Order: sequence, then structure tokens, then C-alpha cells
Amino acid sequence: MDYEPAKNCGLCGKKAPRWISWSPANPGRRYYSCVEAQHGFVEWHDGPTTPFLCDLLGDLRDKVWMLEEEATQLPTENDVAVLRKELEKKTIVISEIVARCEKKVESQMYKSMIYPLILFLAGFVAGMILS
Ligand SMILES: [Zn+2]
Repeated sequence: MDYEPAKNCGLCGKKAPRWISWSPANPGRRYYSCVEAQHGFVEWHDGPTTPFLCDLLGDLRDKVWMLEEEATQLPTENDVAVLRKELEKKTIVISEIVARCEKKVESQMYKSMIYPLILFLAGFVAGMILS
């Protein structure tokens, strides 16, 4: 609404806002239109665009809309913070499981060393007694 000279709607007489068209035929072209669409007041601010610029602006408009759509699919900072907390919790659980497994492996290792030693000593003692 901050433009001069004012363009007023022919029906209600109110100052019409200036808009930018993103239609395929007139991308980037400014125009005036009453906020009451049914009043039918539309007047171009800019002249017609060349076909080359029309295609170029249309392609750029499509790219911007595509990127805006993609951006809505990206995780927000809040999503990342929630995922980071979950990851920290799971990392703690995994490190506890790893610690338990290491203790089990260690005790299995001692058992596998002690039983043959006891067997060897028993055999040695039996051998001494029998001889
Ligand atoms: Zn009007």
C-alpha cells in the first residue's frame, strides 16, 4: 500500500494494493487489484514481459517453490534436539550392554583357564600318589 500515486478501485474508491503476479503468463509483473476481488479492479503497473524473461522468471519461480517445499520436509532444530537426546540415551544403554558383555567374556576367560589348571593339578597329585 506504500506507493504513489494511488490507484483506486473504480467501484469502492479504496486505494488498491500493489501485487506481484506469479502466473505462468506474467511472472514478476506488478499490478494493482482491489482487495475485494469481486470488484474486478485490476490494472498493470509494469508492461508485458518478453517471452524469454517470462520463461526465465517462471523457471526461477518453480525452483523457489520446489526448494520451499523441500525445506518444509527438513527436520527442524527442535527435531534435531529430540533426536540428539534419544541418541545420547541409546549410547548410554549400548555402553552399559558392552560393559556387561565384557564382564561376561572376562569371567568366561577365567573359567576356561581355571578348569584345565585344576584338572592338571588333580592329575599331577594323582600321579604323585600313584607313583
Ligand atoms: Zn474495490
